[in-house]
Amino acid sequence: MTNGNPRGMKHVPRKRFGQNFLVSPGVVADIVAAIAPQPGDTLVEIGPGLGALTAPLLGRLKHLHVVEIDRDLIALLQRDYPQEQLTIHQGDALLFDFAALGERLRIVGNLPYNISTPLLFHLAGFAGQVRDMHFMLQKEVVDRMVSAPGGPEYGRLSVMLQYRYAMERLLLVPPEAFEPAPKVASAIVRMIPLPVTALAARDESVFARVVMTAFGQRRKMLRNTLRELIGESDLAALDIKPTARAEELGVADYVRIANALTA
Ligand code: SAM
Repeated sequence: MTNGNPRGMKHVPRKRFGQNFLVSPGVVADIVAAIAPQPGDTLVEIGPGLGALTAPLLGRLKHLHVVEIDRDLIALLQRDYPQEQLTIHQGDALLFDFAALGERLRIVGNLPYNISTPLLFHLAGFAGQVRDMHFMLQKEVVDRMVSAPGGPEYGRLSVMLQYRYAMERLLLVPPEAFEPAPKVASAIVRMIPLPVTALAARDESVFARVVMTAFGQRRKMLRNTLRELIGESDLAALDIKPTARAEELGVADYVRIANALTA
């Protein structure tokens, strides 16, 4: 299947790069309005593809950074945009050093769904340099990200990301907005890093380990899943029911457990 490229070239979408190109002008306009780019912003787009978002973003900005893995798409971008306007970083966003682009970064993208979770974890490492992020993701992933404790969607991704960001689901996007159409619905999420002072885990690697261990067997009681890390009475002393399950605890509860282990 080929994708209609507004500039006349044909590009065959590559499944391995998660290529589902936006073809709905209405959805593109809604996303750009949600981002609300201002001329002086340092904005980075992950996976510009055929430029569905790149073109309208550049209409509002003096300059844009993009990170793209597909050399064929890079050749099209190089052909279509002057270097002073568009800085193309060729490579894998999972390995990209976003810190090298400056401070108060605004990161956006219709992300390749096959790498969305590892990419979100990679980006969390740069939260200190980020002003905000707007991403198109699978709706189901966005629902997990923003889910409150207690439900089946609440899991490791929810806790790890809610620890670091205020997040909001903005728009639902149907499969028909893409070419080729994915099998699943999509959604736009806004992610704003929380102030560093709000990040209370003394050792974030311990926090990550507690969360991963608890959700490793989410149906079991914490007194069993966390047995190797913390005893039943110590859990109770932290005001956490040893018989609770991972999905019943909020971010602050996980931080308390982690900090008790690193006291
Ligand atoms: N932004 C375009 C749009 O909305 O139509 C394309 C979105 S498409 C879902 C994902 C884009 O990310 C593709 O251009 C793909 O080549 C690129 N991509 C896939 N894996 C990547 C990676 N690891 N690093 C950087 N870009 C990647």
